Amino acid sequence: MQSHIYEPVIGLEVHIQLLTQSKAFCGDDISFGAEANSQTSTISLAHPGTLPRANKKQVELAIRLGIALGCEITSTTYFDRKHYFYADLPKGFQTTQDSRPICMGGTIEVGEGTSRREIRIHHIHMEEDAGKSIHDQSSEGSLIDYNRAGVPLLELVTEPDLRSSEEVYQFINKLRQLVRYLDVSDGNMEEGSLRADCNVSIRPKGSSELNTRCEIKNINSARFAARAVDFEIRRQSEILEKGGTIIQETREYSPGDDRTVPLRGKEEAHDYRYFPEPDLPPLSISDEMLRKVKSSLPILPAQWHNKFTTEFGLSIYDADLLVEHREIAQSFDTLLQKSPDIQPSLLSKLYINKIIPHCNESGISIGEFEVPGQHIVSFLELIETDKISTSVAYQKLWPALLETKEHPQLLAQKLNLIQSFDEDYIAESVKLVLIENPAKVEAYKKGKKALLSFFIGQVMRKTNGKANPQITRKILQSELNSSTD
Ligand code: ADP
Ligand code: MG
Repeated sequence: MQSHIYEPVIGLEVHIQLLTQSKAFCGDDISFGAEANSQTSTISLAHPGTLPRANKKQVELAIRLGIALGCEITSTTYFDRKHYFYADLPKGFQTTQDSRPICMGGTIEVGEGTSRREIRIHHIHMEEDAGKSIHDQSSEGSLIDYNRAGVPLLELVTEPDLRSSEEVYQFINKLRQLVRYLDVSDGNMEEGSLRADCNVSIRPKGSSELNTRCEIKNINSARFAARAVDFEIRRQSEILEKGGTIIQETREYSPGDDRTVPLRGKEEAHDYRYFPEPDLPPLSISDEMLRKVKSSLPILPAQWHNKFTTEFGLSIYDADLLVEHREIAQSFDTLLQKSPDIQPSLLSKLYINKIIPHCNESGISIGEFEVPGQHIVSFLELIETDKISTSVAYQKLWPALLETKEHPQLLAQKLNLIQSFDEDYIAESVKLVLIENPAKVEAYKKGKKALLSFFIGQVMRKTNGKANPQITRKILQSELNSSTD
């Protein structure tokens, strides 16, 4: 996908819808999916003489995200008006921040190991969403839903530091994971809670210039963002290879045919005539407020990841899956703290292969998982102490445990699953298996040693998975080799 001559240069502008109760400058409800125009008021409809009020929660959430990303928090910040005319913007301007954004700087890391890189954040500012124009529902004209007008957003703007579609994909996912950890946003991209504009240009490898870019607007999936960027890199490379020039424009990604198409050119760009919003006073962020927000931050994904890989010795892959959601990381850690004898890697496998998929399938959170922690611990103890083989535990005991929630030890006895180390008992089954498979025994003797695992499988089947595999192997080998003489 990546060209040999050109290097992509990508900067992102991500809109994040905040988990507040109400709109940015008035008390309208903001829940998703309400009936059109049911969440409006004189303020969000811009009636003359109405006055906005800043939403304390919006400011708090901005600071929360800023601190978690290592940003500098601006001590005196204010809102600006950004003027443009559009039917879904009743005020004729958007209340946003221009010259004094609430957060400056900060970074997000992408990649692993030697390809790990820091993407610099230019700033994060607070603003409000516009209404939504609907062009395809009425034959008489366009419709407008003002429910979204005034919904509080943060816009995070990166430096042009990203170098591939893979980094774009990771960046968006990392940001989404973080806003969810922090309860800053629900991060639901399908519902538009996180939307990315991707600015893409290319330049000769080794060059440090910033070339003409195109901006792909409003992408609501990390996968689509990566695809849009890939398409754009290809499109621009082809133009340059043919000796053409890139025209600065705004484009749109169309997932159906996996390409970007022009929306508007730069010549239509507006002069927004920004000026400080006179109806909202500047905001002073006190040290007290910073301290309060800082002390309320949860343990962040990177911190969990570090703990899980260094202290618990888990693989990067396992740790990635366990830290995806805050509640899962927390519950995994709590369980291990309570039962320090459990091998972390065994518990992690159980989480990844059984517990997390079960919760996802039944649409419950990890906190609602039905099997109590002590039962999970004794389930793993049965495996660790060789009372029951891993495969029988996973295939037979686990489903029974989910169903009955009985104590795993009692359940294993009841279901007759406890592993047998009894050599006489195992030898009995070995004999039967060898008698039942004379052709395979013959083949084995002629040198087809790989058949050993077939015989082991047969003994397992006969004993309902109870025969200890090491002892089974030993007896089988000695039986098969002795009968060769
Ligand atoms: P504007 O003022 O036109 O919005 P900004 O300087 O604010 O432009 O940049 C907007 C976004 O575009 C930022 O994420 C920035 O990193 C990115 N960007 C700027 N120049 C380039 C470029 N030449 N190639 C790719 N991305 C760029
Ligand atoms: Mg900009």
